[in-house]
Amino acid sequence: MMHCLDTLQLGRTHIIAVHALETRDGLALFDTGPESTFENVVAAMGKAGLSPRDVRHVFLSHIHFDHAGASWRWAELGATIHVHPRGAPHLVRPERLIESATRIYGDDMERLWGKLAPVPEANVHVMNDGEVAQAGEFAVRAVDTPGHASHHHVYAWDDCVFGGDVAGVTIKGGPPIPPFVPPELDLAAWHASLGKLRALKAKTMYLPHFGRVDGPLDAHFDEVERRLGTWSEALLGMMRAGMDEAEMIPAFAKFEEDDLRASGGTEETVTDYETADPSYMAVSAGRRYFQKHRPDLLAKA
Ligand SMILES: [Zn+2]
Repeated sequence: MMHCLDTLQLGRTHIIAVHALETRDGLALFDTGPESTFENVVAAMGKAGLSPRDVRHVFLSHIHFDHAGASWRWAELGATIHVHPRGAPHLVRPERLIESATRIYGDDMERLWGKLAPVPEANVHVMNDGEVAQAGEFAVRAVDTPGHASHHHVYAWDDCVFGGDVAGVTIKGGPPIPPFVPPELDLAAWHASLGKLRALKAKTMYLPHFGRVDGPLDAHFDEVERRLGTWSEALLGMMRAGMDEAEMIPAFAKFEEDDLRASGGTEETVTDYETADPSYMAVSAGRRYFQKHRPDLLAKA
């Protein structure tokens, strides 16, 4: 049985989930949430009748702090942390990650993410594309799925998939959106990864932002794919019009808000999505992507 535990990030519900799968051999977690919410997750486990001491496996979609920040706490309790080969070095030696995150979040680091510490190498298990790890009766297969981050896995078992961030964000039944964050956004890779997700033909999907999505999943992937197009075109249009980052941030926030409202979103929806996936990050991600990967598209007509 799968439990969806709410981390209650920043005191809000339905922003970041930790999924806990009961197996014949203890618990397998999918993502950990930030370290700042570790005690919330432990409390949610208690309510569900689960014991933190039973966590044997942690499958990380990627190493952004809202997904992997509490990994070291679970490693301390003896869990094996399964991770993409490009993410593993940053778990063991998080200094560079902390440095670059501090550039983005500054003094807000601790409030947003809590305390960061290395995961002992002995607790880290690197999973390559297609590799399977056995968690009790479940054969959990890693699928390399870059786009949101270059070091991103989704995990498939039976007819289920844990979609990470590349599969989109959907909160309280709201529209599925693609979370654009720097520095590794890659639109072409993202499209290819959605193809891999579709090919899994899973019936049930679990998302860190937020919870269970029941199939058929193609309509969900269609919506993510459509917004990969419309959102990146909006960002590109602003760049081609010569707007700088400071001008783009409110403009893109407005664009995203209009998009969410057009899909039935309320004031609350807009705030939830902004908390899970801030629009200023999309601007910085988009600018970096086009400047680095597609300068040809930026040339003035
Ligand atoms: Zn992420």
